[in-house]
Amino acid sequence: MAHEKVILVTGGTGLVGNAIKTVIESENPKDEKWIFISSKDADLCNLEDTKRLFAKHQPTHVIHLAAMVGGLFHNMSHNLDFLRRNLHMNDNVLQVSYETGVKKVVSCLSTCIFPDKTTYPIDETMIHNGPPHPSNFGYSYAKRLIDVYNHAYHEQHGCTFTAVVPCNVFGPHDNFNLESSHVIPGLIRKLYDIIQQGGDTFVVMGTGKPLRQFIYSLDLAKLFVWVLREYKEVDSIILSVDEAAEVSIKDLTEELVKAFDFKGKVVFDTTKADGQFKKTASNAKLRKYLPDFQFTPFQQALKETVDWYKKYHDIARN
Ligand code: NAP
Ligand code: GDP
Repeated sequence: MAHEKVILVTGGTGLVGNAIKTVIESENPKDEKWIFISSKDADLCNLEDTKRLFAKHQPTHVIHLAAMVGGLFHNMSHNLDFLRRNLHMNDNVLQVSYETGVKKVVSCLSTCIFPDKTTYPIDETMIHNGPPHPSNFGYSYAKRLIDVYNHAYHEQHGCTFTAVVPCNVFGPHDNFNLESSHVIPGLIRKLYDIIQQGGDTFVVMGTGKPLRQFIYSLDLAKLFVWVLREYKEVDSIILSVDEAAEVSIKDLTEELVKAFDFKGKVVFDTTKADGQFKKTASNAKLRKYLPDFQFTPFQQALKETVDWYKKYHDIARN
């Protein structure tokens, strides 16, 4: 039987892609065929590879997750690579989607691309209001241009290309590499190694004061699937936990110490960068559509991620 919808998920092997796969496998929808691809299937920085991929799968819908992604320290040292690689991938995926008649594309921005100097909470209308934080300007400008592309494709060709804006994401299948990871997988990896090696000091970078909203990848995945099926706007939508759920890096550190039952000392290395102090985002638009959506409690989601890492340490992205 031909499927009504063929959904191609670029970046299908990453943190968010794996979470969407888990949600879809639990639903087993009969009228949708889902295809999760990695960079091994096609280098999306390359236009010919991108065309070959689309010709092979003939998607009717695309969730575009593929990106060069990294934590604060990786961004600070590779702004040019983040800019160029993400610009190339986005340009190829959106143009080939248009040329092959894809009905809908949902791409992925991030709350860290918003202006550095701003009022809070940030909302969807503020993406282009001023320069991003200097630590990740390459990633930020490449991502902001997705929003510009979406409106341009709509205006000139009537395409339904849209984007979601997640806050910081964490969960199983994250990147746990100490050089390039975000803070949660980075700290999980560090604590795991310290405990394995019998160490007694847990060093956390920065002052511990910055504030972040963290969304569990499985919650984000459910929202992503809802956006693909139900959301009709070209304007982007923030997919974030509530403002009240914002925590400091120090709060996060304490939760991780509990989750690992670590008895040693915690030290904040204040010679290391803090990055943006906060990027508090409003999920009012999401709440208008889905007032009853329940986010997994932070402690529970963190514990599940720690347990996943302990279980799959050998095959995790270290
Ligand atoms: P991730 O775990 O690092 O996964 C990145 C994915 O992109 C992988 O599947 C990777 O394929 C693929 N990819 C990278 N370069 C590629 C290329 N040249 N050609 C084809 N595929 C390529 O990332 P993630 O955290 O799931 O992020 C998914 C999306 O969410 C990204 O657009 C990101 O900007 C956005 N986002 C992430 C966060 C966060 O906190 N993680 C927050 C907000 C927004 P391989 O497996 O083959 O390497
Ligand atoms: P951001 O939210 O885009 O800034 O990205 P990150 O997930 O990299 O996290 C940032 C915050 O966590 C910053 O305030 C960092 O100083 C702090 N942090 C503490 N330890 C670590 C670590 O081991 N890795 C990372 N990436 N950030 C850390």
